[in-house]
Amino acid sequence: MDLTSLRSHNDRTVLRLVRSGALSRASIAEQANLTPQAVSKIVARLISAGLLEETGAVRAGTRGKPRRSLQLAASGAFTYGAYVDRDELRVVRLDLTGSIVSSAVVPLPPMFTPDDVLSALQPLIALDDKVLGLGIGIAGPLDFRDGVVSPNGLPGWSAVPLRALATERLGLPVVVDKDTNCAVLAEAWRRPLHDAALVFVGTGLGVGLFLGGEVHRGTRSGAGEFGHTTIQLDGPLCVCGRRGCIEAVHAATTGVDAARVIGAAVMNLVQLLDLDQIVLSGRKVLAAPDLYLREMPDVEVSVTEFGDELVPVGAGLLVLGELF
Ligand SMILES: [Zn+2]
Repeated sequence: MDLTSLRSHNDRTVLRLVRSGALSRASIAEQANLTPQAVSKIVARLISAGLLEETGAVRAGTRGKPRRSLQLAASGAFTYGAYVDRDELRVVRLDLTGSIVSSAVVPLPPMFTPDDVLSALQPLIALDDKVLGLGIGIAGPLDFRDGVVSPNGLPGWSAVPLRALATERLGLPVVVDKDTNCAVLAEAWRRPLHDAALVFVGTGLGVGLFLGGEVHRGTRSGAGEFGHTTIQLDGPLCVCGRRGCIEAVHAATTGVDAARVIGAAVMNLVQLLDLDQIVLSGRKVLAAPDLYLREMPDVEVSVTEFGDELVPVGAGLLVLGELF
């Protein structure tokens, strides 16, 4: 699908408003501060592109003809999202509403290479003209702008041009971002987030930051390396070479103590950034959510409802989100 003509600011505004609830053309014009004529043109274009469809009639008052409202055409466009974890590959296919239409998980061999990942991905991607692209979530560090990755915990992966390799091999547009950024993006799609951190306690430990209504990546895409901030000066040695990182202290403890380490660290984060929402995620948390919930500071705290599909869904939204 060629979307170059559909990426104007007004097109995205209209799609975003319709996503927030089925609306008539008149209420779109009012909320977007556009003329009814402009909205009619934009809507006609989006309908002919297959992205919007008309739904039942809504009668506005007793006079005038009934207004038809609009909704996203779920099967108008699709994206793929992939999560390259340290031992497996998860892939989801999302429709235009961001709902999962299919998903797959395949194991990755020990010491897997970039080529192993691309070989595993290829059969899971069904290309047609409604597929907008693929988002890939992977551990940092990486450069979001050029898609070059050097992920912690994947031996042999140093300055891998994953975005370019995947684009060439799979023949579709590819975006690469940190797993934690994908995760917080998925949460922000589900309901409004303003100043929030998604805390990911899995094979590694990191946060996805959502500040002022946007993913915060930092100057070198390095934001969110929460696991490697020091919490104990004489603490255990960490995989990063320093001592007493949150990740290392957490790994050296179990049960309530492990949850307390995360609780103290999250409290620091809330104090530092004045956050109002915390979302907990990752295998360790999902295995014992109550243990971690009890140690959290007094802000709005929740556990992700996406389960294991959190990162791949967010990866798919990296691409889908460009429409909104
Ligand atoms: Zn460390």
